[in-house]
Amino acid sequence: MEKQKIWLSPPHMGGSELKYIQQAFDTNWISQYGSNIDEFESSLENYLGNNSFVTALSSGTAAIHLALKLLNVEEGDFVICQSFTFVASANPILYLKAVPIFVDSESETWNMCPNALEDAVKFCIQKGKKPRAIITVSLYGMPFKVDEILEISRKYEIPIIEDSAEALGSKYKNQLCGTFGDLSIISFNGNKIITASGGGILISRNESDKSRALFLSTQAKDNKDYYCHSEIGYNYRMNNISAGIGRGQMEVLENRIEQRRINHDFYQENIGDNENIKLFSAPNSDFYSNYWLNTIILKNKVSKENLRREFLQSNIETRYLWKPMHLQPLYNQCEFFGNNLSGILFESGLCLPSGTNLTNNCKARISKVLKNTID
Ligand SMILES: *Cc1c(COP(=O)(O)O)cnc(C)c1O
Repeated sequence: MEKQKIWLSPPHMGGSELKYIQQAFDTNWISQYGSNIDEFESSLENYLGNNSFVTALSSGTAAIHLALKLLNVEEGDFVICQSFTFVASANPILYLKAVPIFVDSESETWNMCPNALEDAVKFCIQKGKKPRAIITVSLYGMPFKVDEILEISRKYEIPIIEDSAEALGSKYKNQLCGTFGDLSIISFNGNKIITASGGGILISRNESDKSRALFLSTQAKDNKDYYCHSEIGYNYRMNNISAGIGRGQMEVLENRIEQRRINHDFYQENIGDNENIKLFSAPNSDFYSNYWLNTIILKNKVSKENLRREFLQSNIETRYLWKPMHLQPLYNQCEFFGNNLSGILFESGLCLPSGTNLTNNCKARISKVLKNTID
């Protein structure tokens, strides 16, 4: 067995993270206040542009929860959510005792299918309640069909929560993901394109949403000189140590996006037009993916489990695609709209190592396993 494990998407420090952590120690700002938080937020606001207001939080999941709170989602409300995603996109709907309605993917981007979305909206309206929000995802870094989805959002006047947890740096028609939603989120979990060890941001389109998010994320303390609380808050603010890591990582973001895209080129060269494996790629030049994870669909007789095991024998981590929410024990009683394309993708797909620290030696080991499958 090869000694060194090749992970799917490990953290990759840039160099200045420790400096910012040291600054926090030197000034004793070891809490949910400090210059790392301020600088991390403003670097993201600058990067995203488009009048983005950024609130740094303890996780992407917390950001989705607060986004739903900002849209006043309450018990019994319908919230539409992409089915093909990580469970964190949907769980905050249940935190609020709202009702998730799941929508299938289309084949070009693997994200929310506009037709199925419209069916879901009509269903909810027929039930007498317009959905309170639509949670769209840019899965594996691939932007969703922004124009088509936004058109439906406008037509029915339902706000979009853009889950761009995996899509920092991805663009649709040259505009960055995270700037399309009425509210958007990005995750800085350890396996994402850059990390804050753990953390997330909520991106809003105005200052008042940001200050409301700040209020809710710091226990909803009323503006009094003692602890007075009129509504439920959360302890969701990012801390100044994590923000130091995030701040350092922002300095290498462009480089990390480039490296992920080079990984995609590597897989393109190694897989090409193969009858047994298809590499998932952008459908056309409107879609610019950060290729957070490279994914393949296996055809003919190759099974995802056999290939996963073969990689594992060479000490290489691969992973199944996200199992869609409508097939999860937690959610399989929920309404679902679509033809189960996401279920079929789950059956036949695999995520391949896509870290930005893959060496040539790593790539050679991956090539070797792929070659055996291709031939
Ligand atoms: C990682 C991820 C999240 C959650 O982010 P955390 O920071 O881990 O809470 C949400 N949605 C998607 C699609 C993700 O991949």
